[in-house]
Formats: sequence, C-alpha cells, structure tokens
Amino acid sequence: MNIVMIGAGYVGLVSGACFAEIGHTVTCIDTDEGKIATLRQGGIPIFEPGLDALAARGVAAGRLSFATDLAAHVPLADVVFIAVGTPARRGDGHADLTFVGEAAREIARHVSGFTVIVTKSTVPVGTGDWVERLVAQERPDADIAVASNPEFLREGAAIDDFLRPDRIVAGSDDARARAVIEDVYRPITDRGAPLLFTGRRTSELVKYAANAFLALKITYINEVASLCEKVEADVRDVAYGIGLDHRIGADFLSAGPGYGGSCFPKDTLALMKTAQDHDSPMRLVEMCVSVNDARKRAMARKVMALFGGSIHGMTVAVLGLTFKADTDDMRDSPAIAIVQALGDAGAKVRAYDPQGMAEARRLIPDIAYADTAYDAVRGAAACVIVTDWAEFRRLDLKVLARLMSGPGLIDLRNIFDDEEVAAAGLVRVGTGMPQPL
Ligand code: NAD
Repeated sequence: MNIVMIGAGYVGLVSGACFAEIGHTVTCIDTDEGKIATLRQGGIPIFEPGLDALAARGVAAGRLSFATDLAAHVPLADVVFIAVGTPARRGDGHADLTFVGEAAREIARHVSGFTVIVTKSTVPVGTGDWVERLVAQERPDADIAVASNPEFLREGAAIDDFLRPDRIVAGSDDARARAVIEDVYRPITDRGAPLLFTGRRTSELVKYAANAFLALKITYINEVASLCEKVEADVRDVAYGIGLDHRIGADFLSAGPGYGGSCFPKDTLALMKTAQDHDSPMRLVEMCVSVNDARKRAMARKVMALFGGSIHGMTVAVLGLTFKADTDDMRDSPAIAIVQALGDAGAKVRAYDPQGMAEARRLIPDIAYADTAYDAVRGAAACVIVTDWAEFRRLDLKVLARLMSGPGLIDLRNIFDDEEVAAAGLVRVGTGMPQPL
C-alpha cells in the first residue's frame, strides 16, 4: 500500500516507521521544515526508544521517506493518515482542530483516484463528518472516504504498542474504506491483534472514553493515596490488593503527582466539553480534571510540610521533568506546576531530567538546571523525584545524602524502599503512606 502520513510528530513518525516496517511504502509529511531536514539527514527529532533504528531500516529499504510538501505524494496514495496535533483550544478546552482542517483541505486539493482519508489524531465525535464536508467543499469531484482510526500508542513504548496493540479501532460506513484499512493492518492483525470496526463516530468516541477512563483510574488511586497518608495505610498494598481483582486490573494504579502529558489533560477536557455541548455532562470526568489540577501544585506542600511549612530561600532539587519516563515530552507535565509552586513558596529550584531538559528550559526558563542528578542535589535541602526514570532508581542514596544540605527525599513516584532511604540517613516522604512528621 502507498501511505501518506500527514504530521511527523510522536504519532505520525512512529506510525509511519511501523507501517514501513510491515511492508508499506510511506511518506511522512510535516510542515515543520526543521523536523523534515533532521529526518532526511538520518536524525530523529523526538526521543522514543528504538525509533532511530526502525526509521533507518525503513529508509534503507526504500519504504520510508520524508517531505514538507504533500502535492507530489497524495495523488499516489491509497490512504492518507492525518496525525497532526489536536491541542486544547485556548480559553474553552475544546480540541483545537485547526491543524486537522488545514491538512484536510490540503489533502483535498491533491487527491486523485479513490483515496481513503483516515483521521489518526484524537478528534471529537463528529470530526469525520466535518472533514468529509471540508473535502467536498474543496473538491466536489473527489472520490474519497473518510475513516476514523484513533491511535493508542504510549510514548516510551510506542513501537511495541503499534506493532503489538491490544486492539486496533477503526470506523467508517464505507465498505471500500474498511477493506483498505483491513489491508493496511493485515500484517498486524495476522499476528493476533483484534481489529474492531465500528461506525465513525463510535470509533472517535472510543479514544476519548478510553483515555478518560485511564485518567479516572489514576485520579482514583491518587485520592486513595491521600487518604492513606491520613490513616497510616500504604497505597502500594492497597493498589496491589485491589489490582488482583481482575475486574479492576493492576495497571494504572501507581499513585503519583497527578497525570500529565500530551493526551490525558487535553482529552479529558475535550470529552468534558463535548459532553456539555450535547447536554449530557460527564460529572466524573469534570471532577477528575479538577482533582488532578489541584493535586499537581499540592505536591509542593509535601516539601513544605517537611520543613515546618516554609521552604523560603532553600534550594530544592527536582529530578525528572517529563510527564513520565522514557520520553522527552514535557507537554502538561506535572513537573511544571510543581516547580512553579515550589518557586512561589520561595524555594530556589535546581532541576535535572535525562531527556526533557531542552524543552524544559524553554517552558520553565527561570530556574537553574544541572547536568546530572548528583549535580542537581548539591547543597539542596530537599530532593523531589517527579518522574520515575530508571536512572533515578539506580542513584546511590548515600552519595545523594552526602551532597545534600538537608535530609528530605520527596519520593512522589515511590521508587525507593524505606530501608534504603533510612540507611542513607535521608527522610523519605512517599506518596500514599504515613508521612514523617
Ligand atoms: P505532535 O505535536 O508531536 O506532532 C504533530 C505534527 O503535525 C507536528 O510535527 C506538526 O508540525 C505537524 N503538522 C501540523 N499541521 C500540519 C499540516 N497541516 N501538515 C503537515 N504537518 C502538520 O503531536 P502527537 O503527539 O504526534 O499527536 C498527534 C495526534 O495524535 C494528537 O491528536 C494526539 O492527541 C494523538 N495521540 C497522541 C499520542 C501520544 O502519545 N503523543 C498517542 C495517541 C494519540
């Protein structure tokens, strides 16, 4: 199959490289000339484990290429995927469909012969209908079908998620589109991945319903964690205890500083808005959004509590800035709110992250940065672990304690054992367990 992928970000690039890996010919198009130049020189503009080797294989096989202009590629395509960003719209939180609209119009101008346009971006219910109208306005003669095929990959494990997904979801009422999508994914479905084919609107909603459910699950265990801190219970055992029930499941029950990232915050907001617009408000999702927002800043209070309420003038090290480990993605990371709250309380923040520093410097310019975790904690009264990078688990706590000027280890991701922290002479403030006061 000849595939054009519009948008070469986390989703477009991974999907494009994976489609090339399973035998399709793929051109990834992006309006960002710098990104395309990097890709053409063999670089990868994002950090995603394994993506460099996968992309290099696709390019070497002649099945993966990159371009800034779709005019030469769309006419040859059997299927064009739209994988552009759909950020939260400033002001009201609705999904901003500007990039999707631009891509749809641009595709319409160049389609030739029957072409399936597939929205892979996360888009609100009814967006497929809108894309269809846009294309018809631009090119009434175009022979196209618009389908939905939301993406469920997770950053950090994106390639495996794409090639070995729990499920593939797609939606269209057009039999020709369905046949094309089945062909595109056949190498993956042949290996056992189920393809759920639904109506287009249903497929669009599956993505939001899934993400909001996961956000609710995280927020739920975070609230249980807060209660554990008050009643001298341990959330790790509570999570294990409830996760053994197969109706609940063990995943997504790690208490922490609140969810962030490029998907959950904007997708919960967008679902909430869609539901309100259709006079069917989703109160649980609304509550989840506000509980999670409040939680991020509240993490700074754990540091303050350790020092009798004030951290004014103290140096606080923050380890981990990305919204989770194994990605360089800083979008809506809880670290942003936590660093801000620490700064508002008068602390001097010095931060370190294995992959997120470049973006962090742009988003949070007014703090100090260190080149290593050990450099970050030098002279700090407290060290806050915000992201559970593997390299933080390997830190020598005795060295950490020697470098720090105070004893506070605020382990928001519960990556250390009480014994090893105590043996190093540090005081551990974990999440969802008795607090050392
Ligand atoms: P991203 O910002 O990393 O990438 C989007 C890319 O699209 C950018 O490189 C941008 O330059 C490009 N672009 C914008 N308009 C364009 C146009 N008209 N033509 C060509 N290129 C254009 O975004 P992402 O994280 O890859 O997310 C893309 C979509 O996938 C979003 O809707 C997101 O919600 C969804 N999604 C993301 C993830 C994830 O983990 N990041 C997972 C599942 C779904």
